[in-house]
Amino acid sequence: MECSKCKKVGFSKPSSRTLFECDQCNAAFCADCTDSSASEVEVLQLQRRKLIFYCPNCVHLVNDVGVLMSQVRELTGINDLLRKEIEDLTNANLDTEKILKRK
Ligand SMILES: [Zn+2]
Ligand SMILES: [Zn+2]
Repeated sequence: MECSKCKKVGFSKPSSRTLFECDQCNAAFCADCTDSSASEVEVLQLQRRKLIFYCPNCVHLVNDVGVLMSQVRELTGINDLLRKEIEDLTNANLDTEKILKRK
């Protein structure tokens, strides 16, 4: 196995040259090429990858998904507001046909 970024050959057993496989694209990265802090790398080694690891390429994707999700939540909120406004208008018993013909 070699690092997808720097092409250094790593070892599969825990060491300073352990390669981590990305949970998203399965690319292997050495500790030097990940954005993980030294303590995060240690945890990954100790817990045998109980933490989900994303390589530098996929971290951006994951962040994008997070941004998208918050946008979706925002839009859902707007949607709820609009639905409520439509309900209010319906309840107000407005004659929409008359309003449209007024043009
Ligand atoms: Zn590397
Ligand atoms: Zn990846």
